[in-house]
Amino acid sequence: MSHQPAPGLFGGRTAAHALDIIVVGCGLGGLSAAYALARGGHKVTIVESAPAIAEVGAGIQVSPNVSRVLESFGLSERLARDAVEPEGIVFRSYKTGQLVGRTDWTAMTKLYGAPYYHVHRADLHTMLMDVTLPLVSLRLSTWVKSYAGDGSILVSSNGAEETLKADLIVGADGVKSVLRGSVVGRADQAVPTGDAAYRAIVPASKLMEHPELREFVERPHMTGWMGPGRHVMGYCIRAKTEYNLVLLHPDDGSVESWTAEGSADKMRADFAGWEPRVEKLLSFVPSTLKWKLMDRQPLETWLHADGKLVLLGDSCHPMLPYRAQGAAMAIEDGAVLGALFARLQSPEQVLTLLKAYESLRHQRTAEVQASSRLNQHIFHLPDGADQEERDAQMRETLKGVDY
Ligand code: FAD
Repeated sequence: MSHQPAPGLFGGRTAAHALDIIVVGCGLGGLSAAYALARGGHKVTIVESAPAIAEVGAGIQVSPNVSRVLESFGLSERLARDAVEPEGIVFRSYKTGQLVGRTDWTAMTKLYGAPYYHVHRADLHTMLMDVTLPLVSLRLSTWVKSYAGDGSILVSSNGAEETLKADLIVGADGVKSVLRGSVVGRADQAVPTGDAAYRAIVPASKLMEHPELREFVERPHMTGWMGPGRHVMGYCIRAKTEYNLVLLHPDDGSVESWTAEGSADKMRADFAGWEPRVEKLLSFVPSTLKWKLMDRQPLETWLHADGKLVLLGDSCHPMLPYRAQGAAMAIEDGAVLGALFARLQSPEQVLTLLKAYESLRHQRTAEVQASSRLNQHIFHLPDGADQEERDAQMRETLKGVDY
């Protein structure tokens, strides 16, 4: 699908007053903030606890609101090359596989002037690293232990402790954020949502060997199967060479981790009795990763009272992935922070800009947190009257559609 690249969000603007900024966390949100702040003329250091930057083997949905931002980072060609551009999503019954509904994404693409993409997380991370690292410093193997106030953080690196100081600390340290507690003034944890996710990638060539599975590769749509308490999402990534599966189900004691292995046999048992094509797809999965899914109610503030620590991404608005917007919101946060701070004229304006960032982002992310929770209810309705009503409403979307 052809489209016009998004206009630059920064318009070449550079801050008249440059800050020393530490971004804690080199995830998608931290990288986006680091890139945008550095482009705005600030001196940025990313502090990351991991010894090396690596993303997990899983796909990620990049909706037009965020592909538009990534294009403004100069990533149009990389995305078009490495990602798959679906035209929409079809929903199916978990029992029969019958079509229940369809959402056309081409209208969204037109509205934002940017495509909907499905990407491998590692490819997205690498793209962001490639544009960001030339502009910033990166300190790996550095664990932030606490916020010490006045723009200082206590870190531990290779067994030694030290204090790092900057004009501004950006806490992009994810759902288990250490820095969130300093902002809210007490220990603060994200809460279990009751759900967990299995994730797996299988070669698309496997699907092509089976005529009944070919449409999942050949037709430019993502597929969602909705069942009681569970749903499955499947889509192609990497120029349709890989098929990504996400299986959402009631949590049975998993841990919140990016690298915890799940049992592929347990996963198959959990989805036994689903339509034959789901069972066939799962038969290809040699191993799976498993996540406990956490979120929390919107925070009252993302800003430390001293005006030198601000939160971003999952650290302040963790959400269920049921609208595929967690990373999207984190990347938008980073871009907005960068675009605002590119306008910094003097140190006195820092607090005003931080408050502007918070007010621009808080309501939007709070709404997405809430609607992601709502989708948990809608997708997972038990068989019965409510589910039949949901399906009847969704079937309206199939009228006049040739799928
Ligand atoms: P993270 O990616 O968690 O990054 C935090 C970084 O901080 C990490 O590198 C970590 O090592 C580092 N760190 C943590 N603590 C410290 C410390 N104390 N000191 C130093 N470093 C530290 N989102 C979408 O937009 N689209 C999707 O399709 C989508 N699908 C998803 C599917 C599943 C199953 C899940 C679980 C999530 C999905 N998400 C999706 C959400 C998305 O993955 C997250 O919202 C996003 O990765 C958050 O990015 P972040 O940068 O805020 O945090």
